[in-house]
Amino acid sequence: MIKTDLIIIGAGPTGLFTVFEAGLLKLKCHLIDALPQQGGQCSEIYPKKPIYDIPAFPEILAGELVDNLMEQIKPFEPGFTLGERAETLDKQEDGSYIVTTNKGTKHHAPVVVIAGGLGSFEPRKPPIENIVDFEDNGVAYIIKDPEIYRDKKVVIAGGGDSALDWAIFLADVASEVSLVHRRNEFRGALDSVEKAAELAKLGKIKLFTEAEVKKLFGDEKLEAVGIKHKDEAKGETYLEVDNFIPLFGLSPKLGPIGDWGLEIEKNAIKVNNAKDYQTNLPGVFAIGDVNTYEGKLKLILSGFHEAAVMCQYAYQIINPGKRYVMKYTTVGGVEGFDGSKKEAKKEVVQSIS
Ligand SMILES: Cc1cc2nc3c(=O)[nH]c(=O)nc-3n(C[C@H](O)[C@H](O)[C@H](O)COP(=O)(O)OP(=O)(O)OC[C@H]3O[C@@H](n4cnc5c(N)ncnc54)[C@H](O)[C@@H]3O)c2cc1C
Repeated sequence: MIKTDLIIIGAGPTGLFTVFEAGLLKLKCHLIDALPQQGGQCSEIYPKKPIYDIPAFPEILAGELVDNLMEQIKPFEPGFTLGERAETLDKQEDGSYIVTTNKGTKHHAPVVVIAGGLGSFEPRKPPIENIVDFEDNGVAYIIKDPEIYRDKKVVIAGGGDSALDWAIFLADVASEVSLVHRRNEFRGALDSVEKAAELAKLGKIKLFTEAEVKKLFGDEKLEAVGIKHKDEAKGETYLEVDNFIPLFGLSPKLGPIGDWGLEIEKNAIKVNNAKDYQTNLPGVFAIGDVNTYEGKLKLILSGFHEAAVMCQYAYQIINPGKRYVMKYTTVGGVEGFDGSKKEAKKEVVQSIS
C-alpha cells in the first residue's frame, strides 16, 4: 500500500504543478497515470508543438514545458505509478480513500485529486478493415517525433488543425506529403488553411479533397494506400507510402472515473469553483481539463491556478484546525522534503531580512 497526503490521478501539466503547490505546504504527493510517461496531452499528443500562452514564456515546446515542470517539482520528491489506470475509489471509515489501479496497485491518502484531463483518451480511428495490422508498422494516430518521417513518403488524413499543422510542418521534413480530407472545406485556423493551399500550389503538399483513404496495402509494413474519390469518375488513387497518419482527434472517455459517484456534466466533473474545486465527494477534488463549471477555460494556465487554490483546502483537510499563512516563494523559498533549499531563493530571503 502506497501512503501519501495527496493521490493525484493524472500526471499532465495540472497534476505535475499540483506537486509544487502541495510541496510548498509540506504535503507529499503520489501521481498515477495510465500513460507510461509524464506530461499528459503535452507529451502524448503534441510534444514538439510550440505553446504561446504560458505566462513569461513567449514560446515553449510542449515537451519542454513538461521537462521544466519535472525540474520544478524535483525538490518535493513525488512518487509515480505510471502505465496503470486508476480503476476504483474506495472511501474508508475515517474519510480517507484507497485508489486501486487496473494492475492492483493500492494507494491510500486523505485527499484525492483528479487531474485526469480528457480521461483515458483513445484516438478516433478511420473504419479501414486492416488498419490494426499496420499500427506501429507505418500507421500512427499521434505524431510524437517528426524526425521519424524525415525523407519518408507520408499521407496525413483529416481536416482539422492537427492534420493541417502537421502537413505544413512535415512538408519540410518528409520527402513527400499528401493530405487527404473528405470535404472541400477545412475546419482549421484560417492561416493554416491558406498556408496548406499555398504549399499545395508549390507542389510541396499533394492535396486530395472530397477523398478518403479506404485501403491499406503491405506485407508486414505499410507499402501503399488506396484513396477513394467522391467523384467516382476519378476512380481510385493508389499511392506508394511509408506512413499513414489519420489525425481525426481523440474521443475523450472519462473511463472508470465516471463510475465513482461523481457529478458528471458533458463528460467532465462538476466542481465548486466558487471555493476549492472540490467535487460532490468530500476530500475528492477535480482540477484541469477534467472539471467543468461556468466560464471554464480548458487551458494549461487554468489548471495551474486551480491547483494552487485547491492545495490550500487540501491542507485544511490534512491538518484540521492548523492555520497556514501563505508566503511568497521569494520570501519562504522552496524547501524540498530532504530539507534542501534552492540557493537563489535563500539569497532573496537574506537580502530582505
Ligand atoms: C494539439 C493541442 C494543442 C494545445 N495547445 C494548447 C495551448 O497552446 N495552450 C494551452 O493552454 N493549452 C493547449 N492545449 C490544451 C492543453 O494541452 C490542456 O489544457 C492540458 O493538457 C490539460 O492538462 P491536464 O493536466 O488537466 O490534463 P491532461 O494533459 O489531459 O493529462 C491528464 C492525464 O490523466 C491521465 N488519466 C486520465 N484518466 C486516468 C485514469 N483513470 N488513471 C490514470 N491516469 C488517467 C491521462 O493519461 C493523462 O496523462 C492543447 C491541446 C491539444 C490537444
